[in-house]
Amino acid sequence: MSDSDRTSGAAESICPFCGVGCGIEYDPSTDGARGWAGPVNTRAEVCPKGVAAWDAVEDPDRLTTPLVREDGELVEATWADALDRIERCFAGIVAADGPDALAFFASSNCTNEENYVLQKLVRLLGTNNVDNCARLCHSSTVAAMRDRLGAGAMTNSLDDVGEADAFLVVGANPAENHPVIFRSYLLPAIRNGTALIVVDPRETATAEAADVHLAVRPGYDIRLLNALGATIVAEDRIDRSFCADRVSGLDEYRTFAAGLDVPAAAADAGVDVGSLREAARTYANADSAAIFSGMGLSQHHYGTANVHALLNLALVTGNLGRRGAGVNPLRGQNNVQGAGDVGALPDLLPGARPVTDDAARAELAAEWDVEGIDLPAEPGLTEVEATHAFGETVRGAFVLGENPAVTEPNATRVADALDSLDCLVVQDLFVTETVEHADVVLPGSAWAERGGTVTNTDRQVLRMRPNTVPPGDARRDLEVLCELGSRLTNEPGAFTYDRPESVFEELTRVTPQYSGMTYDEIGTDSQRWPFQEDAEAGTTVLHEETFATGARHAPLRIVEHVEPADAVDDDDLVLTTGRVIEHFNSGALTRRSDRLVRMAGPQRVQIHPDDAANRGIADDDRITVESERGAVSAIAEVTPAVGRGRVFATFHTADPLVNTLTGDALDPVAKIPEYKHSAVRVRVSGDQ
Ligand code: SF4
Repeated sequence: MSDSDRTSGAAESICPFCGVGCGIEYDPSTDGARGWAGPVNTRAEVCPKGVAAWDAVEDPDRLTTPLVREDGELVEATWADALDRIERCFAGIVAADGPDALAFFASSNCTNEENYVLQKLVRLLGTNNVDNCARLCHSSTVAAMRDRLGAGAMTNSLDDVGEADAFLVVGANPAENHPVIFRSYLLPAIRNGTALIVVDPRETATAEAADVHLAVRPGYDIRLLNALGATIVAEDRIDRSFCADRVSGLDEYRTFAAGLDVPAAAADAGVDVGSLREAARTYANADSAAIFSGMGLSQHHYGTANVHALLNLALVTGNLGRRGAGVNPLRGQNNVQGAGDVGALPDLLPGARPVTDDAARAELAAEWDVEGIDLPAEPGLTEVEATHAFGETVRGAFVLGENPAVTEPNATRVADALDSLDCLVVQDLFVTETVEHADVVLPGSAWAERGGTVTNTDRQVLRMRPNTVPPGDARRDLEVLCELGSRLTNEPGAFTYDRPESVFEELTRVTPQYSGMTYDEIGTDSQRWPFQEDAEAGTTVLHEETFATGARHAPLRIVEHVEPADAVDDDDLVLTTGRVIEHFNSGALTRRSDRLVRMAGPQRVQIHPDDAANRGIADDDRITVESERGAVSAIAEVTPAVGRGRVFATFHTADPLVNTLTGDALDPVAKIPEYKHSAVRVRVSGDQ
């Protein structure tokens, strides 16, 4: 692999954390990171995580050499020994049980090129068992939007959302989780008169800025969204001309809406009916209204149905296919959009073409020069399905830069599942909670050590550039993946790339949405998909003339309420989980930053004062939180910000390991787990 991308000192790269895609680079004056004026953070603004992004890069605990497990202990090894061991173990599993006995976790934190090479390796091995953590955050959003609109991505762009007259933010907290979007795109519009409606069980930093805050009862989003739709229909606030021209199924939706009891639905959803009606009028009366959605909506075992109910609102009000409108999922990691775009999914090839599509597989095989090979046509296992199969039908796994021991639900089960594998390989920067279960550990590269591209939340493809090189014997992830590809498959010639750009050129040939892009023209700017080969630029607003399905019309869908998976007894509270501004996902990187850890303070479990008083709990008490799956000890934060009957915790830490409490009931379509509704009992530690 050529080092042509390597630079010394500052080079324009992209933040490794959220899906906003801020430009950051090494700052020699502070020996840290700073923003540069990128296509998204045009004034070089960054949030605290961006400032602290260098801390993990230089952490003295970085893995600098491969590790292999000997007599129960991880010990240092050479690259040759570690790779030989993987080759032997995976080949043995494939010989005995076939390639479907292996599972691969790609990474939304790695580049398009790295994810593309990994999914190529997996498919050339003969399986589709490859997935990434989009499964855990927005797979339900993508499934519903692909089904109805033909594309599972933001319909609009950061360039135009500020033109909205109303924002409807559902299950998202951009003030903390997408801070630069909130401060640089949404807040200026709000200050200029754009109305803000927030649907969230908690009084979040975003909700504090709202004109209307609907503090929905966890698990009752469909009731609330249907009641909004019913109000719009009953008050005749639909966009008749858009519905006639672009929407099907209006008569059925009207009949369904007319049968809904809005006050009863509002009461079920735990919100005031007057506020709900005000929200419906504000959204429907706006000339243009933009929806932003997050994991509060998607992370349910009926997450796909939730998003279908949300899409109905945009369709009946004509808020699709034009500037300042749209349905805009705020994506979690810096390349969660791209990892899916380039095929790190068990059911979709690069370009979101189904693995069952014979022509798409043949085209891919021709590009890879392996026409004699039948690429697998059966969809593979999703991430949580894979861990459910560990030790049974799946005997070996490869995890690239993810930490499922912390991020997957029902963490006790996950730990046992990881231990049940014949061979677990993890490529990462640190001894994470998942690495503790590994048989082979490969030291990989941090954001500042990689070149390549990532695709942000509004479909902008951005280039990362290395500011430095991996420490010790650690290697760049792309280099390691290419070596694994040539060792594990029968097609070593398919992995002889000389630089990330060569991979990008190949992936644009098999990913139609990227086909007009070039590395050079992205430069320090961006190119947005879809960018067809013969186009002059990417597309800012999707679905203007036809939907991405190819149809002029998109259907309305009747969506009925589904009960949460956990039944809630009288003494139970409902746990929802989420993030804070200082930390990211499992905390594997942000917990390495002293300044972020100091700023965030200890991660506490929020409980309402009435629920705390009923249980004799005071602020800062040590409490035990227990569900059907297990129990954790944590510190209480008594606050009215979380409603009665609810508790809130982040999932950024291994202590408490909050996903010990969450359940693994899966959405039947997207296979996303239900992180946002777990029945728990809470008591002062020591009390029984
Ligand atoms: Fe920007 Fe997100 Fe990074 Fe903060 S975490 S600097 S908002 S990309």
